[in-house]
Amino acid sequence: MNHAVTYELIKTEKHTGARLGRLHTPHGTFDTPMFMPVGTQATVKTMSPRELKEMGAGVILSNTYHLWLRPGEEIVREAGGLHQFMNWDQGILTDSGGFQVFSLSKLRDISEEGVHFRNHLNGEKLFLTPEKSIAIQNALGSDIMMAFDECPPYPCSFDYMKTSTERTSRWAERCLAANINPEMQSLFGIVQGGGFKELREQSARDLTSLDFPGYAIGGLSVGEPKETMNEMLAFTTPLLPSDKPRYLMGVGSPDSLIDGTIRGIDMFDCVLPTRIARNGTCMTSHGRLVIRNAKYAHDFGPLDDQCDCTVCKNYSRAYIRHLVKANETFGFRLTTYHNLYFLIKLMKRVRSAIMDDRLLDFREEFFESYGFNQPNAKNF
Ligand SMILES: [Zn+2]
Repeated sequence: MNHAVTYELIKTEKHTGARLGRLHTPHGTFDTPMFMPVGTQATVKTMSPRELKEMGAGVILSNTYHLWLRPGEEIVREAGGLHQFMNWDQGILTDSGGFQVFSLSKLRDISEEGVHFRNHLNGEKLFLTPEKSIAIQNALGSDIMMAFDECPPYPCSFDYMKTSTERTSRWAERCLAANINPEMQSLFGIVQGGGFKELREQSARDLTSLDFPGYAIGGLSVGEPKETMNEMLAFTTPLLPSDKPRYLMGVGSPDSLIDGTIRGIDMFDCVLPTRIARNGTCMTSHGRLVIRNAKYAHDFGPLDDQCDCTVCKNYSRAYIRHLVKANETFGFRLTTYHNLYFLIKLMKRVRSAIMDDRLLDFREEFFESYGFNQPNAKNF
């Protein structure tokens, strides 16, 4: 069968597992490795689709759980799908809703059939199954759909993780069978297994035998040390087929994007750049910048003197600080735009470093400039 989404490997970097490639989707072709902005409720908070396009965002992510509860997938279907509904003609990836069911809902009951839980908005009782998750994602019409899985919390016992990972594999098979639109919508499998190599191996074996058009690595960046995440990535990516894209879910700090790429990841998503932007925190070439700080009150320079985004070209730190402190929406639009641009540009530089076989040198330079090499460096 021809998959809706395919991956083209252009080259593997000489000194690392990093891959330069292209992702072909029904809504365009995108260079990888790439970062995908998150648009939970069919909008990347405060950004218009035109702005996202202008900054070079290719694929965005939207959340099945949120759209299912509000406005409901039938309204999105009636609109002609999510692309039409939100006026976005590039790629869209939807998650399965599983992560939100497990993280937002306190009362839940997992069985082989699915998960009973209460809606976090009004307490209503709901039931989500692999088939229901795929039916919603089919109604949304995303280019890439994700298999319904359980992402167990960290830390987690071996026995629980084993039971959960095996169930996730059985759910993956049910998801694949439930996809009624494989010509236009590709379903990715999700490798689980937490910090247990044996379970990661088993999960990868189960899923690759089902021949998904792409694979995600889930259950990382859930509170484990970064070294553990990198170790599990280095262990897991070689178990996945080289002709399929690999997606590391929920990771978006600049150091993790580079370290994940080095270990063979092609796609990343995270709410981090947009969430911290609404708090007034910016990612810059010289590290994290908290715009509310008093020292920026008279600073008429750009957020980042190395950045060529429209925000850095046109607005000063002093102005953005004033807007953010006054709770003006425009201030959050400016910090959001810059942060997304920063990560999209970072991945562009990563791709060119892979092309030149100098990704490790690039990592060294970037980490030095950002301040990641300092002993008490923050996470982002
Ligand atoms: Zn900028």
